[in-house]
Amino acid sequence: MTDNHAALLTVDDVAKSYGARKALDRVSLTISEGEFVALLGPNGAGKSTLFQLLSGLFVADGGAISICGHDIRRAPVKALARIGIVFQQATLDLDLSVERNLMFHARLHGLGGADARRRVAAELDAQGLAERRRDRVRDLSGGNRRKVELARAMVHEPRVLLMDEATVGLDPGSRATLLDQVHGLCAARGVGVLWASHLVDEAERADRVVLLHQGRVRAEGTPAELVAGAGVDNLGQAFAQLTEGGGRRPPENSNPNR
Ligand code: ADP
Ligand code: MG
Repeated sequence: MTDNHAALLTVDDVAKSYGARKALDRVSLTISEGEFVALLGPNGAGKSTLFQLLSGLFVADGGAISICGHDIRRAPVKALARIGIVFQQATLDLDLSVERNLMFHARLHGLGGADARRRVAAELDAQGLAERRRDRVRDLSGGNRRKVELARAMVHEPRVLLMDEATVGLDPGSRATLLDQVHGLCAARGVGVLWASHLVDEAERADRVVLLHQGRVRAEGTPAELVAGAGVDNLGQAFAQLTEGGGRRPPENSNPNR
């Protein structure tokens, strides 16, 4: 398979447990070029666990993950070169400038001096942050820090962008701007996006929604298909219906801070 393969990301029957706790149970999904897929699920659904598998931090217990046709276990370097990630927890160095944070990332991806500077400038420009490039990240608002993370994720021109609860802690205006920026990347550059969130309104405009609950995919389709399938009026009601069923698990020996 080559990079031209239609599915940019394929998750096939993936499982992951923490001890006796099944965090992901036979999860499958695909993302095509230019597609915005919302991974919608309440806290504890397994969204971040899936991101850890997609970013190569953990290895799945079973199943397969392939990015642009490259299996993440057999060809991790090629697979990981094609994804960009914004993790749930911010990972910028607050005391470095915006530009130096991005340059560091560019070098990690093997970009040399002039190429790195060109790519960093282009992505900061795309986020409207060119004039803030010499500022310390610490001096930026929460919304702008998230945009810096988005710019960094795009520096090496990935085909797939993974965003994990990227709007947590942002005010409504910054939330909407970030979401618009990412929809724009799908439309203008054909990037395939996996947008993880527990907020239903962030999934309204998605091409497809994958609804994850207690480690399993409970429903998958366009927002309209999910609403029709649940026989309700809107996505919020569909989400409520699909995530209340199955009952609560008894409290296992879980860390309440997760
Ligand atoms: P989400 O991102 O959807 O909130 P997570 O992937 O963080 O969900 O968590 C899924 C489940 O796995 C939860 O029950 C959580 O408590 C558990 N979990 C996550 N990370 C760990 C870990 N490192 N060790 C043990 N359990 C974990
Ligand atoms: Mg999470």
